[in-house]
Amino acid sequence: MAMTITCAAMGYDCGYGVTGRDMDQILSGIKHHSLEFHGYSEEELNSPDVIERWKGEIRQSARPDAIRTPRDESDRDVKPH
Ligand SMILES: [Zn+2]
Repeated sequence: MAMTITCAAMGYDCGYGVTGRDMDQILSGIKHHSLEFHGYSEEELNSPDVIERWKGEIRQSARPDAIRTPRDESDRDVKPH
């Protein structure tokens, strides 16, 4: 079963999403993105509170695993925010 997390679900005005087959894959994807686009520090990325919050936003997905942008129609020129 694939799982998905999106920035929109976390309250960001951002079309990024990660779909993966397991939690580790998703967390590593969202960590990398949060570091680059949302100004997270390494400390925050490894904070249990932050990781728990992400885990709480992960949803089961019927889609096969792939990295995709849910709103890719409007996110062709994604801004670093
Ligand atoms: Zn984002």
